[in-house]
Amino acid sequence: ISKKVYTQFHGFLLCFCVHVVFIQLAEDHPTSEDETMVPVLASKKASELPVNEVAYILQADLQYGLSHSEVTRRRAYHGWNEFDISEDEPLWKKYISQFKDPLIMLLLASAVISVLMRQFDDAVSITVAIIIVVTVAFVQEYRSEKSLEELGKLVPPECHCIREGRLEHLLARELVPGDTVCLSVGERVPADLRLFEASDLSVDESSLTGETTPCSKSIAPQPAATNGDITSRSNVAFMGTLVRCGKAKGIVIGTGENSEFGEVFKMMQAEEAPKTPLQKSMDLLGKQLSLYSFGIIGVIMLVGWLQGKHILDMFTIGVSLAVAAIPEGLPIVVTVTLALGVMRMVKKRAIVKKLPIVETLGCCNVICSDKTGTLTKNEMTVTHLFTSDGLHAEVTGVGYNGAGEVLLDGEVVHGYSNLSICKVVEAGCICNDAVIRNNTLMGRPTEGALIALTMKMGLEGVQQEHVRKEEHPFSSEQKWMAVRCVHHAQQDKPGLYYMKGAYEQVIRYCSTYNSKGLMLPLTSQQRELYQQQKSYMGTAGLRVLAFASGAEMGHLTFLGMVGIIDPPREGVKEAVGTLISSGVAVKMITGDSQETAVSIASRLGLYTKGSQALSGEEVDQMDIQQLSLIVPRIVVFYRASPRHKLKIVKSLQNTGAVVAMTGDGVNDAVALKAADIGVAMGQTGTDVCKEAADMILVDDDFRTIMCAIEEGKGIYNNIKNFVRFQLSTSIAALTLISLATLMNFPNPLNAMQILWINIIMDGPPAQSLGVEPVDKDVIRKPPRNVKDSIITRSLIVKILVPSVIIVCGTLFVFWRELRDNVITPRDTTMTFTCFVFFDMFNALSSRSQTRMVHEMGLCSNRMFCYAVLASIMGQMLVIYFPPLQMVFQTESLSIFDLLFLIALTSSVCVVSEVIKKIERWRGKGSELIDTTDSFNEV
Ligand code: ATP
Repeated sequence: ISKKVYTQFHGFLLCFCVHVVFIQLAEDHPTSEDETMVPVLASKKASELPVNEVAYILQADLQYGLSHSEVTRRRAYHGWNEFDISEDEPLWKKYISQFKDPLIMLLLASAVISVLMRQFDDAVSITVAIIIVVTVAFVQEYRSEKSLEELGKLVPPECHCIREGRLEHLLARELVPGDTVCLSVGERVPADLRLFEASDLSVDESSLTGETTPCSKSIAPQPAATNGDITSRSNVAFMGTLVRCGKAKGIVIGTGENSEFGEVFKMMQAEEAPKTPLQKSMDLLGKQLSLYSFGIIGVIMLVGWLQGKHILDMFTIGVSLAVAAIPEGLPIVVTVTLALGVMRMVKKRAIVKKLPIVETLGCCNVICSDKTGTLTKNEMTVTHLFTSDGLHAEVTGVGYNGAGEVLLDGEVVHGYSNLSICKVVEAGCICNDAVIRNNTLMGRPTEGALIALTMKMGLEGVQQEHVRKEEHPFSSEQKWMAVRCVHHAQQDKPGLYYMKGAYEQVIRYCSTYNSKGLMLPLTSQQRELYQQQKSYMGTAGLRVLAFASGAEMGHLTFLGMVGIIDPPREGVKEAVGTLISSGVAVKMITGDSQETAVSIASRLGLYTKGSQALSGEEVDQMDIQQLSLIVPRIVVFYRASPRHKLKIVKSLQNTGAVVAMTGDGVNDAVALKAADIGVAMGQTGTDVCKEAADMILVDDDFRTIMCAIEEGKGIYNNIKNFVRFQLSTSIAALTLISLATLMNFPNPLNAMQILWINIIMDGPPAQSLGVEPVDKDVIRKPPRNVKDSIITRSLIVKILVPSVIIVCGTLFVFWRELRDNVITPRDTTMTFTCFVFFDMFNALSSRSQTRMVHEMGLCSNRMFCYAVLASIMGQMLVIYFPPLQMVFQTESLSIFDLLFLIALTSSVCVVSEVIKKIERWRGKGSELIDTTDSFNEV
């Protein structure tokens, strides 16, 4: 027995020791039944250990990566690399919390008092009405929360990871501890990584530490003695931080909530998103209206009581009126409308990351766009080739393949048949990082065009014959790229430099030129000739790339140039035209030369008589004030680089413009942040730039910006329509009861009927106004002034006129019914139905501020049709269905009554349509003034 006890104890002790060791190694080791499972490593521990030990603990192979089956196994244990944003509060609790609203509590109180006073009918009616009102509010709030949640999922982070020895591109959420991740410039770190390879890596950790200067990273283990501060862990790249420079590889040590970012994320969740200006103004409006309503309701109750009306009745009516008249749904509907609009934009391939941008889109009056890839297709093809000794060849064929020929005076040039041409093609091929495989390009399109040219010449083997010894990578600032290579057969030699880039840059490094194989000194005459050739190709809209080679960087031999065509994207010209005519100025910012930029801009209808172009260098020489003076007239910024963009944005904003700026590179991030609308490219854009942007164009297309502006304007209009409808109903209901009380009439609507009206006002018909399809003409309207309030004079007229008609019409019906001097259920049913029908017709004309109902089409907003049909059906049930008749104290009406009411209530729609017509007729002149006032003409 003692042996058995000893063995058991021994086993237990062993387990205990293993456990302690694991706890030592992995501070965050989750408790698990599965002893074979890999722990996650705390970043502090991982930074102290040598890389191979980290790999050993995580059971990972740094070079080969994990196998797919191992990934699945680990995921089953560690879960996805994401944060659980599941609701902590169950739905029923959220529902119950709706009853905490003071008004609802007051209504409940009046139900209880009714019970105490043995008025059971009233008690039941009020309770039913409260449940309906609370349910509508709950559904609205839930929808708003859900749609906001969806927004967060629109841009899932991606990453590069090595699995089973292959580099894979996957979603960051698929990572598990032990995965090997490759990082490069502009990327977002997808999980906590212990770095094991890093060249020149610096990471922006501001999301974690608030420190904006990027910190450089290495791979050496950190001494255990350093303090616990995460900034000291310089060999760990933290999830959510951004790679500003360099390349690296790392092993995943912590994912999802086990990462350092997990803590920050939890804090971010707790932080409420800032409200948009519109949401804020709606909150304010809601509060102001509540205050007025309370005042009026107080007076109504007091006067009613003085008139000797039943106090409980007056109290219930007062509270119901408060529920109905106070537009508590206003801020929520604004949020839902904005969020649903954003979802609609996703379908049009624009991802809006921040809700306030939807509003800003309608105010945007200047768009600064990159040329390559946004205005043009970024499908590059070499069409012309000019050698340093004066030969001019043409190149046929399109796309990234070898189909096509190089023709010199009509003769096909192939292989080494012409030495001068061959030298240009060779340099373009050696100084190149792109690869074309199976007609697909991997790498930069400009370089892809050169590889395709090499294939057309049959020289694609040249690259393999050379070994790269040194590299000066291309950057938009520098505008050239160079490599030093040696031929396989001459490995002992220092090799040659091959350079390609913008003509002005390349020529600066040259002292000779190639003339049929001879190196002749570069004369000013020769330079003049090249300059002419460059301008000739540029004026034809071609991107010009020059080539040189030689033993020494300052003394290269000029080889020649190629002209690359990059056709404008389809539809961009039309989009530019529409934008300009609606008062939005479009400016092109490009790294290309003046001739190329101006030629493309003219082709797109951007650059017209009187337009001006400015170079990046000139931008450098001016300060923001000087630039502000001329910037409205500049249409093209050529030879510009990302660093000029910030100055351009600031000077435009100085003139009062609301600026949208596009960008894709790491260096564009600052300008995108500074712009009112930072637009990042979805395909070519880096994570850094997407992080800084407010909006992402999924397919990099300029037209998408126009669609987004259109949607932005449409959403704003829809919110305006909604506000108009809700306020006019609110005011009408309040005024009706107030007047009836002041005139000492009996109450024209009872409490339940008022609550029913509230459901229509806040509920489906009102909400469906928010999803009204965008009017095609809206894009032609000039941008809104940012300072303009949503409540304009014209809107006030459109709110007040229907309110007056509704009040007069309803009072007329009530007065007509009251002629017998006895108040019967029929009287209130008539008044009630009259009010509801008025509201339906009011909603119909509220669908647009400018377009007539017949122009919009009755069924163009399906949701609206369903909502109105449902409301009418509901109203019919309330009038004709006996149990509901009890609740609402109604009586059946005859068909003639209904026809009479329809005829009367349609007047509100007719009058609103007449107002639109008058405004349109008067507005023709003022619209012209609006457009001329726009930024374009300043
Ligand atoms: P845009 O702003 O319109 O998108 P861009 O930013 O693409 O233009 P850059 O890529 O900065 O412009 O190119 C500027 C110039 O640099 C080009 O006109 C060309 O002469 C040269 N260039 C472009 N790509 C390369 C490259 N891969 N290697 C060497 N030179 C290049």
